[in-house]
Amino acid sequence: MRRVFTASLIFSLAILLIAGKIVGYVTDEYGSLTTACVRVKSEAFLKTTYTDWNGKFEIELPRGVYELEVSKGPEYERMTIDLKVEKDDQKEIWVELKRIVDLRRMGWFGGDAHLHTTYSDGRQGVEQVVLACSAVGLSWAFLTDHNTVMGKNEWLSLSNRGILTILGQEVTTKRGHLNALGIKELVEWEPADTDEDFERIFSKIRSQGGLVMIAHPFDPKNPFEKLHAQDFDLIEIWNGGAPPLVRRMGNVEAVEYWYSLLNKGKRIPGIANSDCHDVFSSYSMLGLLPIETVVQMLQEEIGDQEMLGYIVENEEWMRKWVLYGLLPGTPRTYVRVEELTPENVLESLKNGRSFMTNGPILLVDVNGMGPGEVVPASDRLQLNITVASNVPVNSLRVIQGGKTVYLLNFPDRHSLKCTLEVDPKDGDWLIVEVSGEFPVYALTNPVYLR
Ligand SMILES: [Zn+2]
Ligand SMILES: [Zn+2]
Repeated sequence: MRRVFTASLIFSLAILLIAGKIVGYVTDEYGSLTTACVRVKSEAFLKTTYTDWNGKFEIELPRGVYELEVSKGPEYERMTIDLKVEKDDQKEIWVELKRIVDLRRMGWFGGDAHLHTTYSDGRQGVEQVVLACSAVGLSWAFLTDHNTVMGKNEWLSLSNRGILTILGQEVTTKRGHLNALGIKELVEWEPADTDEDFERIFSKIRSQGGLVMIAHPFDPKNPFEKLHAQDFDLIEIWNGGAPPLVRRMGNVEAVEYWYSLLNKGKRIPGIANSDCHDVFSSYSMLGLLPIETVVQMLQEEIGDQEMLGYIVENEEWMRKWVLYGLLPGTPRTYVRVEELTPENVLESLKNGRSFMTNGPILLVDVNGMGPGEVVPASDRLQLNITVASNVPVNSLRVIQGGKTVYLLNFPDRHSLKCTLEVDPKDGDWLIVEVSGEFPVYALTNPVYLR
């Protein structure tokens, strides 16, 4: 993982005696075998794995009692099975996923524009990363290794697996990191420094039909300097390498900066990406270890004593966040397109016809116009909100021109439909957020009110 913990880290788990083997098969709503994410949990154990391309998985486990969770992103229910493993057990299980909603039929496709493989500092090879993306229910995925496109052919060749694979690159500059999305070839990256360097790099990206995305602009370890001087297409307001909604970790600061841009009339869309470096989410184990051990393990990774102290003080959210899973597509961006092609995904990202989520599906419109669109002037503005979620949500907020105009709290629920009146005098852009128990969160790109 990039930010809070960077280098590789090996968990010195007690030696576990493998007792049993679970072989499982996952089917979708049509009864066909399908890829899925499988997580096995107990009080002291957590393992994330995936099926193969044919929907089969195998896990070896020590004796014990576990909860096995099979999931495939926001559009399916999370299926859980209680499991008891005894010595020499051999179990076969079948899991049928239940679909909550098929957003593809409505023109919405979820994806991730920030993923690493072993061609840079990711821990898995291209095929494993694409398989994991498919298993978490992504429809499109950009390869964005640091300063290389070595994985290009392998990545693009996997587009026949039911997931649209697109080429990108994370470019290191002297001001910070930026993602070149939708490029055809390597963007030369001799560390850019001056305004001229940036102009050259940006035009190189755009001449290939690509977009310039500022990556994790307020990452405490790796911020983007002179952000105001850049003419970018997208800003990563939510990077999966840090928790959402927590101050000093970068994502809250990115959202606040984004609001300030919108208030200046700059229609720059936000994007949410995982920045996943390890699809097996080994850092999730930190959520189960005593805090002293966590501190010891992070000492080298983080270095910054003040930041480490802050994390210890806020142990609770740290545990919840890592346990939720640092997976590809957590968080993800859903784009609205007529047909799933690389050009359409880029176009939709550029126009902000999208919402961002780590779980809840959040569809909104104002008088029929969705995120990225402009609502024609009218006396009556009706905001329609539909939420469907495989994790409970309990709060909804409407932000207009940077100010909260509605804040609704309610008992946990998995779906919601409501209509609210909005006043155009409160600001010319409108964003809706929904959240549940931390870190469950989703937000839309702005609908523009004039
Ligand atoms: Zn980066
Ligand atoms: Zn990255």
